[in-house]
Amino acid sequence: MIDHPAPKSTWQRWKDSTAMKIIEWLPENQVSSGVRSPHFWIIVVIMAVLTLIYYAGHTPLAQIGSFFTDAFPHDLHRTLFLIPIIYASLTFRVRGVLSTSFLLLCVVLPRTFFSPYADPLVRPLLFVLFVAFLGALTARLIDRVEREEKARAELNIAHQELSTYVQQLKENQEQLIQAEKLTSLGQMAASIAHEINNPLAGVLIYTKLLAKKLAGDTLKKEEALDHLSKMESEVSRCSRIIRNLLDFARQTEPMLRPVDINQVIEQVLAMVGHQAELQNVEIVRELNPSVPKVMADFDQLQQVFTNLTLNAIQAMSKGGKLTLRTSVANGQVKVDVQDTGCGIPKENLSKLGTPFFTTKEKGKGVGLGVAVVYGIVERHKGKVTVQSEVGKGTTSTVCLGAYDDKQGQDTRG
Ligand code: ADP
Repeated sequence: MIDHPAPKSTWQRWKDSTAMKIIEWLPENQVSSGVRSPHFWIIVVIMAVLTLIYYAGHTPLAQIGSFFTDAFPHDLHRTLFLIPIIYASLTFRVRGVLSTSFLLLCVVLPRTFFSPYADPLVRPLLFVLFVAFLGALTARLIDRVEREEKARAELNIAHQELSTYVQQLKENQEQLIQAEKLTSLGQMAASIAHEINNPLAGVLIYTKLLAKKLAGDTLKKEEALDHLSKMESEVSRCSRIIRNLLDFARQTEPMLRPVDINQVIEQVLAMVGHQAELQNVEIVRELNPSVPKVMADFDQLQQVFTNLTLNAIQAMSKGGKLTLRTSVANGQVKVDVQDTGCGIPKENLSKLGTPFFTTKEKGKGVGLGVAVVYGIVERHKGKVTVQSEVGKGTTSTVCLGAYDDKQGQDTRG
């Protein structure tokens, strides 16, 4: 497709015009001091020369004068006076026009003595009025153009200042985030040490116990199996913590490809279905089949919805309803994970996503699930929102940019 240039506005045409170039060549601001300005003297000289020409036929210079008088009738002579008037309007604006017009009046009036016409005053007077009006109009126009230009320049400066300010703000914000990250890192290190130390201490105790009983030959088979099973559970807890930590810390960019979000949900439900059944949780699918695909990493999305559904199921200890809903609005694919569980108190809502924030009893929660969700969705340029009411339930919504199949592009922000 040929790119047609945008039509020029009247202002743009005026700015590009030769007239404007001439105006720009003249002093940028109107000249305030009269006699000290060279423009004043240029005008005076032009006026003097034109007056000479105007009266040439009636002076001792009649010889030369007759040439002018024959070549131009005196009406045409008067037209030449437009030059100093317009010049004055450009340099001294209305003030200049009025003084030059007055000067012109003084020049043309004596001419009435030489005039052969019956009513010699009318024409010169009308002419002076006309040029004064024309000059004043030009002066006003230039004043306006100049004012607009000044406002534009001020706006540009303000815009530049604002851009610098926004840039500074961004830099400060980044520094703040960096500082916050360092603080979180410290807290995280302490939490990790604590989280891993407890199960390891358990494993150590059982190992010592086993060794002691083996040495004393007092170890029964059931007892040994029980100790080993406890050790296994503690070790798997450690492994779970480390796996979640790795997910949380993973900074690799997602492997993006068009993904059917309904398919992700189905796979997640196949995995968590058994746990839901055990906890008496009814699963409701409200999956819109016409929802567009999203550009995403399938495995990472699966992780997002596994974490959200597991949290939802765990929040419904006495059973309830887990609804998974997909929809599309404004180029965004929306997935709601809604439960009828215990809900999240207001004071805890802001802590969601903070590493190791958990309200679950020891051994059940690590506090990395939501943090992993936030991290993955952020890397997909999406958004997570959580709405919750204590005693009624929670809805976690994940929004991702829809992928346009036909155009081969996604609409993520
Ligand atoms: P964990 O599940 O290991 O506690 P998460 O980061 O997944 O870690 O969750 C953090 C906390 O957020 C949970 O302990 C719980 O208090 C709260 N939470 C998350 N999802 C829900 C939910 N659907 N209903 C109630 N509380 C929730």
